[in-house]
This record gives sequence, C-alpha cells and structure tokens, in this order.
Amino acid sequence: MATPLHGQSSSARGITCPTCRKPTAWQDNPYRPFCSERCRLIDLGCWADEEYRVPSQTAAELFETTENNE
Ligand SMILES: [Zn+2]
Repeated sequence: MATPLHGQSSSARGITCPTCRKPTAWQDNPYRPFCSERCRLIDLGCWADEEYRVPSQTAAELFETTENNE
C-alpha cells in the first residue's frame, strides 16, 4: 500500500499579531496570539509609562534657578 502524498499539508500554523500585524507562530509562542510580550502588554493597556518617564528638571537647572535669587 502506497501512501499518497497530499499536495498541501499545513504544518506551520500561523497567526497575525493583533498589535503589530506581524506574522506570528502559534505553536511554542507563550505570548499568543501576540508576537511578543511587548505587543501583549500594549494590547492589555499595561504599557507602562515608566519607561518614558523623564526627569523634569536636572540638577543643573535647579542650580541656575537658585543662583538667580538675590
Ligand atoms: Zn506584535
């Protein structure tokens, strides 16, 4: 008995990341349906603003302000 070869066998199941629309693997992907943890966090709204937090005033600026005081 010969095993007939079917033309198409979809071995890799692919999905599209809802956040960045990148083709993403479904299998062995802990962040599915997202491509990465980052995209997952963005979608969840947990994209912390801490990373973009910038110090409002530097020490130098503070010194300039006090120097002007007479
Ligand atoms: Zn993504």
